[in-house]
Amino acid sequence: MPSVYIKTYGCQMNERDSEAVAAQLEAKGYTLAPSEAGADVILLNTCSVRDFAEQKALNKMVNVIAETRRNRPDVVLGFMGCMAQSRGQELIDRLPDVDLVLGTQKFHRAADYLEELLAGRREKIVDVAAERGSEATIREHLPNGSAKKSVTAFVSIMQGCNQYCTFCIVPYTRGEERSRTIPDIVAECRQLVSQGVREITLLGQIVTSYGKRGNVSLAPRGTSGERGRVTGNVENRLLTPALSSFGEEREKTPFVQLLDAVHEIEGLERIRFTSPHPKGYGDDLIEAYARLPRLVEHAHLPVQSGSDRVLKLMHRGYTRTRYVGIIEKLRRAKPDIGISTDIIVGFPGETEDDFEQTLSLAREVEFDQAYIFKYSQRRDTPAAEMPDQIPQKIRADRNQRLLEVINEIAKRRYGAFVGRQTQILVEGPSKKNPARMTGRTRCNKIVVFDGSERHRGQLMDVKITRAGSFTLYGDPAILGED
Ligand code: SAM
Repeated sequence: MPSVYIKTYGCQMNERDSEAVAAQLEAKGYTLAPSEAGADVILLNTCSVRDFAEQKALNKMVNVIAETRRNRPDVVLGFMGCMAQSRGQELIDRLPDVDLVLGTQKFHRAADYLEELLAGRREKIVDVAAERGSEATIREHLPNGSAKKSVTAFVSIMQGCNQYCTFCIVPYTRGEERSRTIPDIVAECRQLVSQGVREITLLGQIVTSYGKRGNVSLAPRGTSGERGRVTGNVENRLLTPALSSFGEEREKTPFVQLLDAVHEIEGLERIRFTSPHPKGYGDDLIEAYARLPRLVEHAHLPVQSGSDRVLKLMHRGYTRTRYVGIIEKLRRAKPDIGISTDIIVGFPGETEDDFEQTLSLAREVEFDQAYIFKYSQRRDTPAAEMPDQIPQKIRADRNQRLLEVINEIAKRRYGAFVGRQTQILVEGPSKKNPARMTGRTRCNKIVVFDGSERHRGQLMDVKITRAGSFTLYGDPAILGED
């Protein structure tokens, strides 16, 4: 059987999609190649969020073509994911050696299309059409045997985005929001837990919008559903979104109903999710942090800017005051909560004053971690056409200045852990030094310690001895010691 190499660019959702394609192909008998050398099929799963990510994938394909086509003309080459979706046929027009272009709603067709290409029945395939129900197809995981036993797993709960932030290409590459049903998601989580997974991250472009679109039913297909508050064994219930959200009745949002349902799975130790939208942080979600012990104390809450003027231009739907208010409520509910964020610098029209408001927000909130992005013009997005595009040099300079502030805050916040005892879930060997093991605190900090394979999957207490750059170092804590 052929071997396949998949290289992934971009976010965790792309990682998850690649994993599903790999599992699908493995189930058909393919072997997974560790690199492109010798692979019969080479797939690049692409990201379009910034131009840099697109250029990286395009350059990679140019190199792959140069290396493979001369000696191994039969190797099948493909693009999949976001850039495949947004550029479609254009990719083959530009790089005629590419055989397959697979859009974001077509991952489940990978095996069929590859079979046709490998058998020579078709020469080129481009499929970027929308497909109803495709959100429910990302559910395969690599079987245990093929990879080291996995302690953590990502579960895709929805596809698409309806937020239309003016800078963002995602609604055009991922399509409209479409949510899977709660029973379907719970079944996938339950299966992962039965295979040894102890921590699950629920994934979506904006997870807090889960189930909010009127065109989805949270009930299993073919049933009519029943509205209302959800408690008890959800698999025996028919669920529909709480469309009125919570209000007078204080009905839970569908996302919180999903958290409740996943929380009931026996053997699951930790639940995470990413990314929420600040707009979706209602009191029911904040209350969930206090109420659900398996929901860990971490929130990745993209703020994008500290200036209300820029937030409005970005179409974010919240103000700085509202954002800071959410953080305050979260910290009141869970004082040790870790807060991370995404920030864009150099958005069109961002003045020095706007940027300084972002610096002051970073200082006010004291993020544990922030991913800083230099604004990148994306075609067909409203911001790309806005006046006052910021020169590259200023974007780079603001990036550097914000990075310094973020690093200084992180140094302080990570340093505060030294001497403390904290619980970690051990994930496996450290990437930098495989002789050591790595785990994660509930508040999402990586801890490196001297351990061995037998610790993998264990929840253990460690005493933090040193803080590095976005990493803590610890010793397994011996009970009774100070
Ligand atoms: N769905 C999440 C949200 O908007 O809240 C984040 C998803 S996006 C893939 C990850 C991050 O990329 C965004 O939060 C934003 O900071 C950044 N990003 C998106 N479009 C960008 C652009 N045109 N230029 C620079 N950064 C961008």
